[in-house]
Amino acid sequence: MEAEMVSGFMSARQFVFLGPPGAGKGTQAIALSERWQVPHISTGDILRTAIDDGTAVGQEAQAYLEAGELVPDTLVMTLVRSRLAQEDTKNGWILDGFPRTLAQAEALDDMLKAQQLPTPQVIYIKVMTGLLIDRLLKMKRTDDTVSTIRRRIAVYEEETAPLVAYYQQRQCLTVVNGNVPAAEVANSVVLSTEQETGAAKYIQNEAEFDALLTQDSLLVADCTATWCGPCKLVAPLMDRLAEEYCEQVNVFKLDVDANKAVAKRYAVKGIPAVMFFKGGELKEKLVGVKPYTAFQEAISRHLA
Ligand code: AMP
Repeated sequence: MEAEMVSGFMSARQFVFLGPPGAGKGTQAIALSERWQVPHISTGDILRTAIDDGTAVGQEAQAYLEAGELVPDTLVMTLVRSRLAQEDTKNGWILDGFPRTLAQAEALDDMLKAQQLPTPQVIYIKVMTGLLIDRLLKMKRTDDTVSTIRRRIAVYEEETAPLVAYYQQRQCLTVVNGNVPAAEVANSVVLSTEQETGAAKYIQNEAEFDALLTQDSLLVADCTATWCGPCKLVAPLMDRLAEEYCEQVNVFKLDVDANKAVAKRYAVKGIPAVMFFKGGELKEKLVGVKPYTAFQEAISRHLA
């Protein structure tokens, strides 16, 4: 029962990054994969590795990559099917560079339906075309020439851009402004995925924290930092708490680096530290990695 609930909850972490070449999908996909602790799967990376290893798939794909053309759908589907069958994908995944054609998107839908998995959340990084060539030239890979770059953009317009409308119709598309610095894009991406998953949100600043403290409901604040390994184990438990107790409890995360004053006020020394507040007062602090039941029990104590 317990395990089923965990997998049911976690399987919602299926994200697809959509956007033109040079939109920064790879960077954002890697950051989100760390955030949600699910694998980052880039079909471009898989194909480049196959080419470097000289496998049969690599030999078939090489000419397409060099020309900036798409590899045939059947070949890509075979790669994706086998990658998504691997054990590490059972809690979710982040797809980067796939699907790239309507046929691939439909094949992905069919595959998920057959496995009774939900539709992925599609994050579309929208960038002005003028910025793309410039960015692509700066981050030029060894397989890129200017004409390949041009061709990749044209292929995107012809084959991949129609997926925006496809996913819009399925109501699973979030548009993120990609014309701003990568760190800002990353913030929008994280916020949009938290809204979709019902996960615990980050407290933005001290004022927001104080406003939350004035409310009557029980407030749970998980003090974390991006560089803290053990924090990554507690973060998903907070997301689960946020979902399970969304009616009675406010569950939030607090980045201690961005909220040093709050951390100091409550003498947060070790992290992860989960603080329980009632009526504006700190009632309890659980420091370190604890089992989910420890957090449930603390909530029961303070709700009583
Ligand atoms: P990327 O690293 O995503 O820009 O992909 C590099 C190249 O790999 C593309 O220009 C295509 O030739 C090929 N490729 C990657 N993903 C796909 C896909 N989903 N469908 C077809 N070709 C792909």
